[in-house]
Amino acid sequence: MITLENIHKSYGPVEVLRGVTLDVARGETVSLIGASGSGKSTLLKCANLLETPDRGRVLLDGAAITGPGVDVDRARARIGMVFQHFNLFPHMTVLDNVTVGLRHVRGLPRDRAEQVARARLAEVGLAHLTGQRPARLSGGQQQRVAIARALAMEPAVMMFDEATSALDPELVKDVLAIMRDLAASGMTMLVVTHEMAFARESSQRVVFMDDGVIAEAGTPEQIFEAPRHVRLRRFLAQIL
Ligand code: ADP
Ligand code: MG
Repeated sequence: MITLENIHKSYGPVEVLRGVTLDVARGETVSLIGASGSGKSTLLKCANLLETPDRGRVLLDGAAITGPGVDVDRARARIGMVFQHFNLFPHMTVLDNVTVGLRHVRGLPRDRAEQVARARLAEVGLAHLTGQRPARLSGGQQQRVAIARALAMEPAVMMFDEATSALDPELVKDVLAIMRDLAASGMTMLVVTHEMAFARESSQRVVFMDDGVIAEAGTPEQIFEAPRHVRLRRFLAQIL
C-alpha cells in the first residue's frame, strides 16, 4: 500500500536518513522502533510529504507521490497522521476539528461532513463531547479526536508518531486500545512507538531503525525473542 524506496534526507551536513527502503502491505501494521534521534519521525514526514526526500521515492498504492507533477495535497489527504501533540485547533469545537478537513479538503457539504464526523467520534467513544473545545478534554480524549479526524478522511494508510508518548500513563491504554482495534480491523498502519506491547501484539512486522537506516526487521517474535543486531539488543534491554 505504501512503499518507501531508498529514502535519503539530510539537514545541513547531517544525513538523518541514509537509504531507507520499506513496504507496508495493504492491511498490515508495521511498528517502527528505535532510539531517539534514529530518524523515525523524519521517515514518517518523508512518507507523508511533510518533508521532501533528497533521494528516493514514495509510492502510495503503486503510484509515485514524490517527484514532479504530483498533486501533493491530494496525496497527503490519503495519509492519516497522528502526532504526539494532537495539533487540534483550540478555537474550534471537537466536531469542527473533525469536519474542517472533510469540508475544505474533501469538499463535503456541512451536514454530510457532520454526519461522518459524528460517526467517527462515536467510534472513538467521544459522541458526548462533540460540542466541547479541545482544552476541556483530557490528553487521551484529545488524541482520540485527532484519530477520529484522521479516520474521517478515509485514508489509505494511517501513520502514528509516538501517539501515546505525551499522555499520562492512565490515559495511554484507551488510545492504545483504539489503535489495536484499528490494526485488527485491517487498516494499513505505520506506527512509531515506544509501546513494546503494542509492537509485539498488534503489528505483523517490527522495524528497528538505528542511525538513519533499518538495522533489523522481522516478525515480533524475531525482533523480541531473537534480536540479532547488537544495537537492537541494547535498545530492547534499555526499554523493556
Ligand atoms: P526520532 O524520531 O527517531 O527521534 P528524528 O527523525 O526526529 O528522530 O531526528 C533524527 C535526527 O534528525 C536528529 O538528530 C534530529 O536532531 C535531526 N533533525 C530532525 N528534524 C530536523 C530539522 N528540521 N532540522 C535539523 N535537524 C533535524
Ligand atoms: Mg520522533
